[in-house]
Order: sequence, then C-alpha cells, then structure tokens
Amino acid sequence: MNTVLRSTATRGAAAAWREQVPILARRVHGKPLVYLDNAATAQRPQAVIDAIDDFYRRHNANVHRGVHTLSGEATDLFEAAREAIRRRLNAASSREIVFTRGTTEAINLVANSFLRPRLRAGDVIALSHMEHHSNIVPWQLAAAAAGAELRVIPVTDDGELDLEALDKLLDERVRMLALVHVSNALGTINPVADICRLARARDIPVLLDGAQAMPHLAVDVQAIGCDFYCCSAHKMYGPTGSGVLYGREALLEAMPPWQGGGEMIEEVRFSGSTWNALPAKFEAGTPNIAGAIGLRAANDWLLGLGLEAIAAHENDLLAYATATLDAVPGLRLIGRARAKTALVTFTLAGTHPHDLGTLLDLEGIAIRTGHHCAMPLMQRFGVTATARASFALYNNRAEIDLLATALDKARRMLIA
Ligand code: PMP
Repeated sequence: MNTVLRSTATRGAAAAWREQVPILARRVHGKPLVYLDNAATAQRPQAVIDAIDDFYRRHNANVHRGVHTLSGEATDLFEAAREAIRRRLNAASSREIVFTRGTTEAINLVANSFLRPRLRAGDVIALSHMEHHSNIVPWQLAAAAAGAELRVIPVTDDGELDLEALDKLLDERVRMLALVHVSNALGTINPVADICRLARARDIPVLLDGAQAMPHLAVDVQAIGCDFYCCSAHKMYGPTGSGVLYGREALLEAMPPWQGGGEMIEEVRFSGSTWNALPAKFEAGTPNIAGAIGLRAANDWLLGLGLEAIAAHENDLLAYATATLDAVPGLRLIGRARAKTALVTFTLAGTHPHDLGTLLDLEGIAIRTGHHCAMPLMQRFGVTATARASFALYNNRAEIDLLATALDKARRMLIA
C-alpha cells in the first residue's frame, strides 16, 4: 500500500478507535472536547471501564488469602493480569513482575531496596537531563543518604541524549544508570538497547522509566537488556494508582523488601520474620486488584488495535502537528529528536503558557502547561514553562487544525 493510502486507512481505523472512548463525546465550554493531554493521563476505553465494573459487580474479594470462590476468582484475575503484563514486556517469568502504584513507586522501590544498600560515599548515579522528577528525586534521596552524587547526561539542542558524553560519563564510579525510555516533555525515544549494551559491558545496572513508552511502543525487556523497567497503567489507557516494576529475577531475589505488611511474609515471629517468594515479597498489603485488572484490559485493548497500526497513525499525527505548528507565527518547538512519539512542546512569543492553556480550554482544547515535572530540562532550554500537546491513538488531524487555529486566536488576543 502506498503512503497516502496507508495513512488514509489508519485514519479510518482511528475514527473507530475513538468511538470506543466514551469521555471523548463530552463537551467543554460548549465545544467538543479536544483532549491533547494524553502524556499526563490517557482516557479510558469502554473495555477498561467494563473490566473494572465487572470485577466489582461479580468477583470482588481479597486476593491470595481466601479459600472461598470469589477470592479464588479475584486471585485468578489478578494473576492473569500479571501474566498479561509479563507477556507484553517479554519478561522471562511472572516472578519478575511486581505490581506497584505506578512508575513513581516502582522507581522508589528500586532506589530504596536495590541501590541504597549498595551505595557508598563517592559513588555516582547517572541520569539524564530529560528525566521526570520521579526519576530524579528518589536517586537524590539515596545519594544524600550515602554521600554519593548524581551525574547528568547532557541533552542536545534537538532534544536527544548526547551519546558521546554518555559514553565518557559511565566510568567505574557509576553504580546505577536511571534513564527515561521516552521523554514526557520532549517525546524523544532514547536508544535504550544500545545504551544498556554499553552499561552492561561496564557492569552498571540500568533502570528504564517506561511511563511514556508503553502507550506507543512495543517493549521487550530482554531484547533491550535492562535490569529494571517501570510503567504506569494510566498512561496506557488503564486506571490510576496501578503500575508495574519489572526487575531481573536474580536482582529482585537478592533485594530486601522495602515495605513490610501482610502478604510479603513467609513467617512472622516477634523474634524475626522471613519473606515470601517473588513477587509477593514486594507487594505488602492488599494490592490494587481492580487496578491490575484494568491495566490488563487496557493492554489487551492496545494489543487488539495493534501496536503497529497505532504507531502508524501516531507518526502521521506527529508529522502533521509539527508541520502545522511550525507555521504558527512566533511558535518555538522544543525537541526535534529524530525518534519521537506524538508529542509537541512549545512556547509562543509574547505569551505565557498558562495563559495559552486557559484560552485554549475555553475552546474545549485540553493541553498541559508548566514544567511537566521536568524542571532541569526547562532550565536546559532556558524556559520556566512550555505548552505541550500530547497525542493518543484516538486523536486526529482535525483536532490539530483546531489547536493551530486556537493558538493563533490566543496569540492575537494576548499580544493585542
Ligand atoms: N516518568 C515519566 C516519563 C512520566 O511521564 C511520568 C508521569 N507524568 C512519571 C514518570 C510518573 O508516573 P506516575 O505519576 O504514574 O507514577
């Protein structure tokens, strides 16, 4: 199929995908909702809403503990969700899949349980200038406790990692490399498999923040060669408060638990306790059962639509949005990486991003404005805030036209 036919076909499919997401029929300020804040959280398809509804209507019980029917059903659904995510990530074993509250909690788990016991004064934690705060602050806390330091991989003017600098910076003092797979502020897709190969040759463990990768890309943790991979359900059309830590089994096995409570123990005595097997050792207390079930439904939905078809449509949106916004007078696009997900970050001369966001909201258009939890990256590009439109599989070119028209209108109002 030629390119024009293919992009017309994917646009047709995307129109059908959109129908499956009820909130997109909403109106805001009397206008049809144009939801372009998907990197903050994506909207939920009916399939996810139904899976959670069905769990609470028909199967709700606590997992793992009961011998009664409902508890067995809830446990089966919960563990089936774990297996679905194992398959999606191509992890070697479901023991390597730990359910968490989200990416943030997954990173904190690794910083506390894996790194802290190994970290000594003078050690180095390497991360990049494009990290989300949740992939900076947990490492800062660990570094401060041990007298270790952070080292930052620079980002080029186009918003790519400086790979030469990275190569030099990974020396024998580095105990951990924590890196975002896809940047939430720039859309940059980092060459994580190459970087992991480099780190592995130097025995440096790698954690990848996959929060923004999972809605857009196929992810194979074994092919990538990372030690830890983190993601959040709500970025991939699932519920909030649910996420995953993948960790290589040998590493997880050697790590102490980081939270104590029910379910993570084998035996408890006042004289001391022993720990449950993986992954329960890291899942203290009642987990977010409906969250895991919703995550599985979201993942099934994504795979059912087809990751390749989604990528084709989203690449078309990115190309169209880049060309359309480049034509808006005074607009500066930040981040022109060669490999990008469908996201555009920008400033508009003479306007503040928050004012833009407010005026766009009056047109029914939801974008994100601010520092995007990436203050160091903002500093790198000499801005305090930007506006960001982030696209999902259900967005379309007409919405990008509405965005451009609304930006032009806002610019005229704010500059007049
Ligand atoms: N990393 C990245 C790249 C993100 O975009 C986000 C969410 N904005 C997070 C981490 C944190 O995810 P959560 O809030 O779901 O824990």
